[in-house]
This record gives sequence, C-alpha cells and structure tokens, in this order.
Amino acid sequence: MRRPFSNNVIFYDTEFSNLDPHTGEILSIGMVKISGEELYLELEHAGPVGDWVKEHIIPKLKGPYVRREEARRRIKEFVGDGKPYALSYVNAYDTLYFYKLFGFPRGDQPCYWLPVDISSIIFGVGKDPAKLFEYAAELGIDTKQYTQHHALHDARLVRDVYTKFFAIEPA
Ligand SMILES: [Mg+2]
Repeated sequence: MRRPFSNNVIFYDTEFSNLDPHTGEILSIGMVKISGEELYLELEHAGPVGDWVKEHIIPKLKGPYVRREEARRRIKEFVGDGKPYALSYVNAYDTLYFYKLFGFPRGDQPCYWLPVDISSIIFGVGKDPAKLFEYAAELGIDTKQYTQHHALHDARLVRDVYTKFFAIEPA
C-alpha cells in the first residue's frame, strides 16, 4: 500500500494570463482540501492576455472578480497556518504565479516552500504524465464531471486522483 510522506496537503490549480513569467499573472485559482472543502476566486486583471487564454480561459470566467489583496486574504484564511504542501498538476507556472501573487520574500507564502506535482507521481508509476484525464479514468474516476481549464474543476481532479491513488478516505 502506498503512503504519502505527509497528509498536510492542499490541492490547487490556477489559470493565468500568459506563459511569459515576467508579465503573467493568476486570473483564477481553485483550491480543495482533502476534506473536499473548496475555495474558488477570479481575480481582477488589466494586463496583457495571450491568444490561447482569450479563447479557452476568459469565456470560463464569470466573476465576481476580486482584487489581488482580497484574494491573498481569502487564500490565507482558507489555507490556514499549517503550511501545507501545495499540490497541483504540472506545477511550474502554478507555483511561480502563486509566489508572484504573494510577493517576495517567501516568508509571506501561505503554503510550504516545496511544491508537489501530481504529474511526477504519475510518471513514477510508469504512466504518461501528460495524460491526467486518462490516468484518472484508469483509477475509475468519472472524468465527465470536470471542465478542463477551469481552475476549480482542475483542482478537484487533482484532489480526486491523489486521494484515489493513495486510497485516502476524507475524514
Ligand atoms: Mg487549470
């Protein structure tokens, strides 16, 4: 039986404005705890937005849009003081833009400094890490319930794959 190193984890996903780390920012974030408790926020954003994002992400944003300060406050409140491992899927940009949202130095970050990536877990069991939906289906998850590229749905999928993979029953 597989056991993760820690149960102090929080699942999340972000949608962001573009792939240039200098200008890119979070547009929406979904966070889910093992318990299933959820937070979803869409953020005010006035900067440039990539073409792919215009087509695939913007139509999924419905508002209301919160200011970044408000987003930080609500994320901190949701995450709490336990410094959980932040766990997402292909986490490079999620991590970077999450760090950017909270600014530097890192001391203000609500999650533990070391992020965890579920694509690495999938890679480690010999499956294609690019195919999260396929792997979820293999685990017996009904993938039709998730709208891809919606931050809350993506975060739910990460949680559901992770808890299924480790056979974790929510307390
Ligand atoms: Mg996403």
